[in-house]
Amino acid sequence: MLPNCMNASDIRQMLVYIAEAIHREEAYLTSLDSAIGDGDHGITMRLGFQAVREKVNGLAESADMDGILRGAGFAFMGAAGGAIGVLLGKMLMAAGASLKGKQEMGAAEFRDLLGSMEAALVAAGKVKPGDKTLLDAVHGANQALTAGLPQDLVGALKKAAEGARLGAESTAQMPARVGRSSRLGDRALGHPDPGATSFYLILRSMGEFVEAQSPSAQ
Ligand SMILES: [Mg+2]
Repeated sequence: MLPNCMNASDIRQMLVYIAEAIHREEAYLTSLDSAIGDGDHGITMRLGFQAVREKVNGLAESADMDGILRGAGFAFMGAAGGAIGVLLGKMLMAAGASLKGKQEMGAAEFRDLLGSMEAALVAAGKVKPGDKTLLDAVHGANQALTAGLPQDLVGALKKAAEGARLGAESTAQMPARVGRSSRLGDRALGHPDPGATSFYLILRSMGEFVEAQSPSAQ
């Protein structure tokens, strides 16, 4: 990896790293969903990212960042059921589209990618911040970078992950308004949204991966 930016090979390895992290968190994600949903979020995320991992490992060496992320999105959508499969799948495709024609992703490209993911989620999910969904973490990450973009990619990833963490945590204070948990209403209070938590874990894994791969960390 070059200092401060990732190429297609790095993106591919990073997706595999995220898949491993999500696998490790399966039981935790299931426990969150068991509290306010049907308890399938952990397995759904694990199956989705397992498909992502197989997909990106099978792509041609020449695949570019756009092709890798779009392939990952299709694979996730196909393997992960429910709303999260469609939403995160579309978000991964939008992430790819934001990098179309580019050879590298630095802090500025990452900020644009995150913005594209939020726009795709809002368009497909018909949700708004405060609805106790995945969007609260995505929006928190974007807000963190809008407040100030670190020059280095690791710094940008960590700042976005912290914004996502705060956004995911804030969902515990929200009643559920959409999706399966909405029938619980105020009984969902005290429990964070599993999808928002997953998005935070994805960004945290990205930061960990890039930090470990950066030349300055070697
Ligand atoms: Mg569920």
